[in-house]
Amino acid sequence: MTLAKAYAAPAAGEALRPIDIERRSVGAHDVLIDVKFAGICHSDIHTVRGEWGEQSYPLVPGHEIAGIVAEVGNAVTKYKVGDRVGVGCMVNSCGTCDYCEAGDEQYCRNGMLGTYGAVDRDGSITQGGYSTHVVVTEDFVLSIPEGLDLDVAAPLLCAGITTFSPLQRWGAGPGKKVAIVGLGGLGHMAVKIAAAMGAEVTVLSQSLSKQADGLRLGAQHYYATKDPETFEKLASSFDLIINTVSAPLNISSYLDLLRVDGAMVNVGAPAEPLPVNAMALIGGRRSFAGSMIGGIAETQQMLDFCAQHHLGADIEVISADQINEAYDRVLASDVRYRFVIDTATLN
Ligand SMILES: [Zn+2]
Ligand SMILES: [Zn+2]
Repeated sequence: MTLAKAYAAPAAGEALRPIDIERRSVGAHDVLIDVKFAGICHSDIHTVRGEWGEQSYPLVPGHEIAGIVAEVGNAVTKYKVGDRVGVGCMVNSCGTCDYCEAGDEQYCRNGMLGTYGAVDRDGSITQGGYSTHVVVTEDFVLSIPEGLDLDVAAPLLCAGITTFSPLQRWGAGPGKKVAIVGLGGLGHMAVKIAAAMGAEVTVLSQSLSKQADGLRLGAQHYYATKDPETFEKLASSFDLIINTVSAPLNISSYLDLLRVDGAMVNVGAPAEPLPVNAMALIGGRRSFAGSMIGGIAETQQMLDFCAQHHLGADIEVISADQINEAYDRVLASDVRYRFVIDTATLN
């Protein structure tokens, strides 16, 4: 057993504060990770505040974890002490269902095990990455390639894979016109990755306030969605639209921006149902789809791709005592583009 320093929400809606937690003893297939950096994802805020269902408290959030291997179990073959590693949104799955066998562990029929707030095999509740240490079975540990600093790599474990997976699946690449809706934590990675894949990238944002950033990140075009002319001008022009916005949008007006056979993929998760006008789909053989993170092999592929193209997240590194303030700033969209906790400040 390892004692770890962490930051936890003591109850729904209460500010996070320091806590000591126990990490399980390193089992035969386990890796003990000395966490160096942990990204702050919007999901962390929804979850600890109880907005996505009841939680068990105290709860340590964090599923964008980057660190160094400190100890390995005697059956571990993939990692050794000193390796640079990451952990994303899940820490286990059944491993035997058809989805797991296909590498889609995130959709495991028996339920993937979330990195925090989930009931583990031994009945304990998983605790996330706002912590000095974490123990994870080796199959759910990712390798962070040399050439990617750990701080800018951490957000790739959620924001990176969430956008990489649909961009790859729906064929973003040379000759393809891709629109990214929303330029936040997810959107800024979507722009970088889609541009690196060779697509022609357009940002669709409420206003033009982040236009300079969007172009710097790799977009070729930038339009304000509050301007109705945008929707007339861009009608039937995109092969793929990735929607990173978690607030309800008029989906049918975005579907009209797709070419024949185009697809709009939601990675943002609004609480409310999104009404879709079937005519907007029928009148262009269009698809409206969703996507949730990615499998483990695909997450490794994403990290390798990002290292090869020198793509880290744009981050603001904070100390642990700034977490609550950072939450307020995330909710106010006042971050460019991801907060990352330096876990050395937990000690
Ligand atoms: Zn996340
Ligand atoms: Zn499974």
